[in-house]
Amino acid sequence: MTKDQLLTRLSSTAAAFTRRRALLTGAACGAAGTAGLLSLGSGGEPVRPALPAAGPRAHRALKPSAYRLQPLTGYGPPRAEPSHPLVRREPFLRLSGRGRTMVLTFDDGPDPRFTPVILDTLAQYDVHAMFFVCGAMAVDHEDLLARMADEGHVVGNHTWSHPLLTSLSRGRIRYEMERTSDVIEEACGERPQWFRAPYGAWNRTVFQLGAELGMEPLAWTIDTLDWTTPGTRAIVGRVENGAAPGVVVLSHDAGGDRTQSVRALRAYLPQLLDSGYHITVPRRRRA
Ligand code: ZN
Repeated sequence: MTKDQLLTRLSSTAAAFTRRRALLTGAACGAAGTAGLLSLGSGGEPVRPALPAAGPRAHRALKPSAYRLQPLTGYGPPRAEPSHPLVRREPFLRLSGRGRTMVLTFDDGPDPRFTPVILDTLAQYDVHAMFFVCGAMAVDHEDLLARMADEGHVVGNHTWSHPLLTSLSRGRIRYEMERTSDVIEEACGERPQWFRAPYGAWNRTVFQLGAELGMEPLAWTIDTLDWTTPGTRAIVGRVENGAAPGVVVLSHDAGGDRTQSVRALRAYLPQLLDSGYHITVPRRRRA
């Protein structure tokens, strides 16, 4: 979305923010789950995931459509599920390999012009996706967030106003992330478990705050560059050329005219399914 659009939304909802802010309890914690990792520094040690590895030796059976993501740097042995994720040093970039699974993600929404059509298409093919919403968009369309959750999609946190987080203070980053989680909780009944930094701009503070707020960082494998409106065929081509087990696809359901993104989904989704891909979302961290 444009900066002007964001500012308009921000000002129109400022009073609501103040009320919501006053309701915050400061419940975010997670220090117990993160302290041990802060000493990892910038060395080469892989960070253990917060979850047991999926596979034949996994602690519990996975739902048929539920898989989990693995960090690019590898992972350690299974461990008990902590109350909060550990602090990452890089985001997840892809799904761990178990068959031909892929994850579709849609950022920057919701937008009532495009998000419902995308939801309709996903429902038509009975698949689930991830929506990384911006709080400034979501606050006016909580019905769309509720629909996402009701239909089995994963609603993630994409900050309030889509800033370059690496240029912000720690307090401002927390403000952007926490308020967005508040709106998601209000609309969906639970706080998000995943977040994605705008522009893929991560730093240590972003990872720390994400963990404190109970969220895992997810990036992507394929960038469709749909926001550049390259043409429906170009978007479809990027998805199909990049399709592979474990791939996470980045698209957008807002931020401009996303007609091409909608049309592209209608084209590549049935083709991926025909090719044997299982379109899924990561499993829930907590039951
Ligand atoms: Zn974005």
